[in-house]
Amino acid sequence: MTDAPLISLQEVNKTYANGVAVLKGLNLDVNAGETLTLLGPSGCGKSTALRLIAGLIAPTGGDIVWSNPMLRKNLGVVFQEPTLLPWASVFDNVYLPLRLAGEKREKAEPRVRHALARVGLSDFTAALPRELSGGMKMRCAIARALVTEPAVILMDEPFAALDEVTRFQLNDDLLALKSEL
Ligand code: ADP
Ligand code: MG
Repeated sequence: MTDAPLISLQEVNKTYANGVAVLKGLNLDVNAGETLTLLGPSGCGKSTALRLIAGLIAPTGGDIVWSNPMLRKNLGVVFQEPTLLPWASVFDNVYLPLRLAGEKREKAEPRVRHALARVGLSDFTAALPRELSGGMKMRCAIARALVTEPAVILMDEPFAALDEVTRFQLNDDLLALKSEL
């Protein structure tokens, strides 16, 4: 492998259909192993940048270059809301990405259990989302993002809707999780 950045945004522009030019000439490299945080006031374009990297929207100018385009197909994404399926158990919510990839439940089970253990939800595999606290719902969403073992995880203010104590706890847990990789 070279040490080319994992993801390189080169002079990226994004103007929405309503004419709002949100990003102008954004240059940004994401290197392997790096935790990179975008900081800025509300409305400055942080979510737009994440959606561009995730491929959910296209830039109006510039390039987004992946050192290995295969990595792009297996992205972990965590949004501000946990977006869990309300009728499905914690286990089934975390199994979902593997199920969509065609993996049998029995084969996927150890990976699902491992992802749940990593976020501290081993005792809640059978619970429904409505039985979880806000912090536990986010843990479940994080387990779902981890279960496919993506090379890149994108998080858009994942803890913004949580109370301060829970937010600090999850920030710490996330750093611990990353140091285990
Ligand atoms: P941040 O995440 O930093 O708060 P966003 O990327 O969500 O900022 O938004 C940046 C700007 O783009 C804002 O002015 C917002 O109103 C505008 N914007 C975001 N999404 C759209 C959209 N789909 N269409 C038009 N304007 C949008
Ligand atoms: Mg945002």
